[in-house]
Amino acid sequence: MWLNNILETIGNTPLIELHKTAKGLPCKVLAKVEYFNPGNSVKDRMAVKMIEVAEQEGKLKPGGTIIEGTSGNTGMGLAIAAILKGYKCIFTTTDKQSKEKVDILKALGAEVIVCPTNVEPEDPQSYYSVSKRLAVETPNSFYVNQYDNLANRLAHYEQTGPEIWEQTEGKITHLVVASGTGGTVSGVGKFLKEKNQDIQVWAVDSYGSLLTKYFRTGELDNKEVYPYITEGIGEDFVPQNYDMQYIDYFEQVTDKDGAIMARRIAKEEGIFVGYSAGSALQAIHQLKGKLKKDDLVVVVFHDHGSRYVGKIYNDQWMLERGFLEVKTLKDIIGGRSNSKL
Ligand code: PMP
Repeated sequence: MWLNNILETIGNTPLIELHKTAKGLPCKVLAKVEYFNPGNSVKDRMAVKMIEVAEQEGKLKPGGTIIEGTSGNTGMGLAIAAILKGYKCIFTTTDKQSKEKVDILKALGAEVIVCPTNVEPEDPQSYYSVSKRLAVETPNSFYVNQYDNLANRLAHYEQTGPEIWEQTEGKITHLVVASGTGGTVSGVGKFLKEKNQDIQVWAVDSYGSLLTKYFRTGELDNKEVYPYITEGIGEDFVPQNYDMQYIDYFEQVTDKDGAIMARRIAKEEGIFVGYSAGSALQAIHQLKGKLKKDDLVVVVFHDHGSRYVGKIYNDQWMLERGFLEVKTLKDIIGGRSNSKL
């Protein structure tokens, strides 16, 4: 038995119960571990879907160039699909993203242009503006725009949602999703609420992002928006993939709490997750007062820890940001971190 190509390994990821890191919560928590996808993230699903829809709509033609602004995971999915489908890829990303992510995209044949993080989206140097300009200048190109391309949330409505419903035999009561473009939370949330409107859908955001305030007040005022470190979640605008009618609550998590929780998931569960998985589980702990004994929570773990070895999984990086406390120099020299972590 063999598969035709790597794209056929996308989806059907495992749902795994959390034990030590769910201690203190009143109910079971199951993690949908999306790093089992070939690009090591949930984004493979929507990357392929966005390409397929663009092909069907005639927006992407044979030999074309795929252009996108991506923090890495979407680029990874697009790059893999492009290899098998015969397209070229040009990605723009920000200097906030880990170097590993950029190198991986290059290894998969993509051209990557790194742009500054701390500029407004409208600034000509921003990664949004650069990708839009390249899409205009490059002949036979397709600008993916994962933020406003609704094939993004459709992938999760068609795949991730049904998988979670079947894996929990319809017993899921809460869905918790760290959120960036909004594709995962909106697509899975819509599917699950159509099955059972009582299922609670919680989106997890970073402090510094605009999304939570927008959800709570409808205001687009970005006075409280500031740079944060967590990768892949939060935005300084509201992407069209958000369908707020399927989201019940938004919770914000600090960079520090998300990082510490990701390290705990790796050490205590043996599930080597990325940064945003820590934020998502941290949010559940922050909201534990809303949970009851018989609830069944599903949390999405978006990507793999290997992309963050130079960041949250590096003690020095954690120390420099005050995310890790070292009591004695011996702890650093001996490579031992605070035993609590
Ligand atoms: N976590 C990580 C690591 C991601 O790359 C993304 C995608 N931006 C998300 C969470 C959020 O997923 P979505 O864009 O579907 O909201």
